[in-house]
Amino acid sequence: MTAQIINGKQVSEKCIARVAEQVAQRKAAGLRVPGLAVVLVGDDPASAVYVRNKQAACDKAALKSFSHILPAATGEAELLDLIDRLNADPEVDGILVQLPLPKHINSQSVLERIHPQKDVDGFHPYNMGRLAQKMPLLRPCTPKGVMTLLAEYQIDIRGKKVCIVGASNIVGRPQALEMLLAGGTVTVCHSATQNLAAEVAAADIVVAAVGKPDFVKGAWIKEGAVVIDVGINRLADGKLCGDVEFDAAAARASAITPVPGGVGPMTIASLLENTLQAAQLRD
Ligand code: NDP
Repeated sequence: MTAQIINGKQVSEKCIARVAEQVAQRKAAGLRVPGLAVVLVGDDPASAVYVRNKQAACDKAALKSFSHILPAATGEAELLDLIDRLNADPEVDGILVQLPLPKHINSQSVLERIHPQKDVDGFHPYNMGRLAQKMPLLRPCTPKGVMTLLAEYQIDIRGKKVCIVGASNIVGRPQALEMLLAGGTVTVCHSATQNLAAEVAAADIVVAAVGKPDFVKGAWIKEGAVVIDVGINRLADGKLCGDVEFDAAAARASAITPVPGGVGPMTIASLLENTLQAAQLRD
């Protein structure tokens, strides 16, 4: 079997265009243009690129964006004060704090300070809890992006065996909750999982979010399974690769996401959708 390549770039552009259209409709109806505040602390070059990409995407969707670039030495109290101001700012619908934060700042305290209705990353325990209780509000961006991709490609989840490799708060765990909500029979694997190959081989849909290049072997994939590779790993030669052995997996799968150009662009599309949704929550 030769897998269909799932084109995340194309789907994300479609999502961004949909957001832009709804923003235009809001404007025409005299409603506020949604605003996203992006907070970056320190000078991590990868984070700076992510923040620039997010602002560029906001421009494409005609959303307002406000950036707050703070020095690495910023104290936790100062950052919490900024979050309080953004929580109270009527022009700001969504607040995104770029992770990782410098070590002297407790990331959890900062994420929990964001008002849940402005938590466009969906990491606040309130939003994760709502997803766990089958009443999602603002949903974590990367897992939501995966669900959008599957929906666009009309890949059914109900009744399917889903194996998620990785159990982080950002990807694996919320992805498991999304798949469960969509009617999948979900297995979540992590570093203590015994016989990972057998867990993956039993799945109709595999989502890999581990952070190790080529970690999920193509030979593990069930013939005809759908493979979603969330991993983004930079190799020594500067190239990006996913967590799945792409060529070997593509030879067995019915559909697969490439890296780059698969899940990555969907994360930003979900962020814009969440910002629009956050504005709607406050209308
Ligand atoms: P984390 O490091 O936070 O989590 C990795 C997960 O993999 C953990 O749950 C860990 O298990 C599990 N794991 C580690 N080793 C093994 C093993 N040997 N067998 C099975 N499971 C294992 O990473 P993230 O979730 O933040 O990110 C994962 C990948 O996704 C990275 O490459 C990251 O760059 C990428 N990413 C991509 C995004 C996108 O937009 N496409 C967005 C976010 C992340 P345990 O819980 O036991 O430690």
